[in-house]
Parts: sequence; C-alpha cells; structure tokens
Amino acid sequence: MSDCIFCKIAEGTIPSKKVYEDEKVLAFHDINPVAPVHVLVIPKKHITSLATMEKEDQGLIGHIFGVIHNLAEELKLQKGYRVVNNCGEEGGQTVAHLHFHLLGGRSFAWPPG
Ligand code: IMP
Repeated sequence: MSDCIFCKIAEGTIPSKKVYEDEKVLAFHDINPVAPVHVLVIPKKHITSLATMEKEDQGLIGHIFGVIHNLAEELKLQKGYRVVNNCGEEGGQTVAHLHFHLLGGRSFAWPPG
C-alpha cells in the first residue's frame, strides 16, 4: 500500500531501528516507547488488521508469534512480557497495518485503559 507507513518501513524507504527481519516479517523499535522494551512485529505483506486478515494469513500470523517468542528470549524478558494487538477504532489501532506490540522491562496493570 503506497500510503502505509509500515509498508514503507518494511520496504526500507522509511528508516527504522530493526531488531529482526526475515522474508515475511520485520520487528523494529516503536518510535514512542511505553516500556523499556517496546518492539513492533509486523508482516511485510500489507494486512490492515486482524479483523480483515484472510484465512490464508493464519500461518503468517503463527510465524509472527514464533518470532515474538524468540525475540522475548533474545531481549531477556524472562520475568515476563506483554503482547498487544490493537484492532480497529475501539481497539485503539492508530496504524492500519497489522502489528503486534512486544512490551517488557516493567510490570503491567490489568485491565488496560
Ligand atoms: P497502534 O496504536 O496499536 O496502531 O500502534 C501504532 C504504534 O506505531 C504506536 O505505538 C506508534 O508509536 C508506532 N509508530 C508510529 N509510527 C512509527 C514509526 O515511524 N516508527 C516506529 N513506530 C511508529
């Protein structure tokens, strides 16, 4: 998608602080971190949200969770971490390209605001 900021990050036309990349997935530091570790994990393919994903994307999303598992180990989040997906307007999604927040390095409250 030509006007999607995360597609541009995936293509490399907008710079990011990458922490992981493979053929299908990119992980990079959030520009406005809300925790000591705040990494975004995205599919390179443009998927607008979990609500609009296709059945064929299920394997890709499973792969993303494997990447998150590995990153949590590499980033030494052995005390725990939180994975967040904000979906749609009421879910608080602000960037219309599927992404998972990997948050760690502090304790988190529940329920979210
Ligand atoms: P959302 O609110 O779940 O859609 O999360 C979008 C996230 O993208 C927010 O945490 C933003 O800080 C982050 N973000 C927006 N633009 C950029 C960028 O250019 N680089 C890295 N993170 C970004």
